[in-house]
Amino acid sequence: MTRLSDYLLPTEKQPPADAEATSHKLMVRAGLIRQLGAGMWTWLPAGWRVHERVVGIIREEIDAIGGQEMLMPVLQPAEPWRKTGRYDIDALFKLTDRKGSPLVLAMTHEEAVTFHVSQIVRSYRDLPLILYHFQVKERDEPRPRAGVLRTREFIMKDSYTFDRDQAGLEERYAMHVGAYDRIMERTGLRYYRVESDVGMMGGLGAHEYMAPCAAGEDEIALGDGYAANVEVARASADVREQDGVLIRDGEPLVIESAIEVGNIFMLGTRYSEPLDARYLDERGNELPIWMGSYGIGPARIVAAAVEQFADEHGISWPRAIAPFEVHLVAIGAPGTRERDAAEGVYRALREAGVSVVFDDRDAGPGEKFADAELLGSPLRLTVGRRALEEGSIEVQIRRGRAEAPAVLLSDDPAVLLEGLDATWPSVP
Ligand code: ATP
Ligand code: MG
Repeated sequence: MTRLSDYLLPTEKQPPADAEATSHKLMVRAGLIRQLGAGMWTWLPAGWRVHERVVGIIREEIDAIGGQEMLMPVLQPAEPWRKTGRYDIDALFKLTDRKGSPLVLAMTHEEAVTFHVSQIVRSYRDLPLILYHFQVKERDEPRPRAGVLRTREFIMKDSYTFDRDQAGLEERYAMHVGAYDRIMERTGLRYYRVESDVGMMGGLGAHEYMAPCAAGEDEIALGDGYAANVEVARASADVREQDGVLIRDGEPLVIESAIEVGNIFMLGTRYSEPLDARYLDERGNELPIWMGSYGIGPARIVAAAVEQFADEHGISWPRAIAPFEVHLVAIGAPGTRERDAAEGVYRALREAGVSVVFDDRDAGPGEKFADAELLGSPLRLTVGRRALEEGSIEVQIRRGRAEAPAVLLSDDPAVLLEGLDATWPSVP
């Protein structure tokens, strides 16, 4: 049941005073998220729907490459973190329990998953493995900012691969590149896959998935068929710098700001060595397991989509991750024929399985249209007196605010579906 008259969608005319990023302003104004503390955010019902649609796409694609979903705890013993040398990272939250045992709040899950694999995997027959979960990460970020773009607590999909050798790792890595490319395509984001530094994870190679947007903190260098993290571009042999401009093959590279939405790493034996994750090969030799690690942040995908497609009226979701696909606006007081007609359309859309939010509030058309454009569902349907007179429902495509051909006014699900099916191909 999604009637705005009883749905928690606290829209605001003004953005929070401290908000700079478009996604921060609009996600709060549209009633999707609310702040609890510095870098601590609550997802309200409509926002959570978007988050979970992104999660659904990620899950399907990781399952499709043979990922096995599980769940590891956030609260962890300090010991494995000491073994991998990561206990002293500043961003790692540390605490002690009542008995004085040192604990941490996981900022990522290499330690936990490698600990388990070290106990469970015995021989080459147990490999390869792709394990993953969606789990909360806690990070004492130096500078939480921009709404849900950089928070101290967020959900990550992190997968981990386990192979007998480098060739296996490269195969598992390539599978993740494929899955991540499909995830990004499906969400509707504009993105680049760029080579990145290996950074704090250590290892053999890495890529970042970058979504260009104004609020991004990273910079990417773009050329004809070329995309790289700026630091990587600067350091590469075929790029030179002239008067502050990066030049590759005689062509200047364009620099765009972007937000990292995903990051994949070939770890090699960086974690399996200190945590003793080994297997026996055919000849009885004990060898370290080759690992990869693959992260993606649904919250950043959501915020990047807001950043990329918003206009001065509000959010404009890609259809695949919109909280609702259709925003139905009823115009006219309760008890009028036009209101009855809108109720009929709402019932029929729900029966047809359309994801719809129904603005049945006691408010004027101006306010309803403004909220619809703020919330950003891909299609807006309006049922008022004019619809009754003309026998058709007015349809607006949110992206570009373009008028679409009207749909026949009906309370028959099949008729409405047919009308919508004719419209969807022109909706991004
Ligand atoms: P950044 O470079 O932006 O600090 P990171 O390199 O530390 O991020 P990873 O540890 O690779 O990030 O995490 C994988 C994914 O988790 C990121 O690509 C991003 O989508 C998400 N993520 C990381 N940090 C945060 C954060 N503070 N808030 C929200 N999402 C985050
Ligand atoms: Mg990074």
